[in-house]
Amino acid sequence: QKAEWAKLINEKTVTADGHEIEIGANIGTPMDLKGAIENGAEAVGLYRTEFLYMGRDQMPTEEEQFEAYKAVLEGMEGKPVVVRTLDIGGDKELPYLNLPKEMNPFLGYRAIRLCLDQEGIFRTQLRALLRASSYGNLKIMFPMIATLDEFRKAKGILEEERAKLEEEGATVSGRIEVGIMVEIPSTAVLADQFAKEVDFFSIGTNDLIQYTMAADRMNERVSYLYQPYNPAILRLVKMVIDAAHAEGKWAGMCGEMAGDVMAIPLLVGLGLDEFSMSATSILRARSLMKKLSKSEMEELARKALSLGTVDEVIQSVKNATDL
Ligand code: PEP
Ligand code: MG
Repeated sequence: QKAEWAKLINEKTVTADGHEIEIGANIGTPMDLKGAIENGAEAVGLYRTEFLYMGRDQMPTEEEQFEAYKAVLEGMEGKPVVVRTLDIGGDKELPYLNLPKEMNPFLGYRAIRLCLDQEGIFRTQLRALLRASSYGNLKIMFPMIATLDEFRKAKGILEEERAKLEEEGATVSGRIEVGIMVEIPSTAVLADQFAKEVDFFSIGTNDLIQYTMAADRMNERVSYLYQPYNPAILRLVKMVIDAAHAEGKWAGMCGEMAGDVMAIPLLVGLGLDEFSMSATSILRARSLMKKLSKSEMEELARKALSLGTVDEVIQSVKNATDL
């Protein structure tokens, strides 16, 4: 099987009936790039930048960040690189920010909420990204967006920094897509409105499932509620994909669900355009997708959306595939 997968490293991801899909890698540092390329990543679908900020005692400078972003963009040689702005808080702490302890950190002051409140941190990161943009195909993604106002504010700050940099004579790419993670149910439900303003969506199922099911993703005692195949999750995913397509935008997924073998037939059927996963899952996913017929998976997805439980959904996937 490994030998069969190895042959797919330089191949495109195309279903049995000719539908093209993009498979990207999730990375945490520029050092992860090698593994992504060796496993046939067609893109970086999620670069989690918080690792730049962690394990140290002060903020990374604009210059340090610029070097990291440039290294990833150059390493991908023009292929898409989706960089997610700082997603700190929740389970990821930065001691040097001296933030007060919260009762519910996953529902608290984190990610874009923190960045819109402490604009200096955000602006430094955006400047580094904009300056790096001319070295490749950069896409910027904001995490934990709950309202359209948050997106507009974040995008407004990005545009201000672009204007300043251009004034200073810096080269900034003119074709940077700006999108959001969909990991909060309010954003999935309102995806049709977001789709008019964002360039793309990337569904963060790790958080979307936790918030939809009201089950802490770190708490083993409620892990039975962590249900990617729950029809409620599938319906939210469908809403996001359909909303994107209605506006001519693309929808991806960068949560663990994107690399989950039982979920892939459903996601192909729902019309997901881009799958981003850990590098070691890419070839297995490509191999599976090449065997699936998109039109058959559409039929499967329609069926699954009408079911009531996880077990029924899993059974429907087994009936429609060799899994
Ligand atoms: C997600 O929530 O699905 C996601 C990809 O982000 P993280 O796992 O970094 O919270
Ligand atoms: Mg998340």
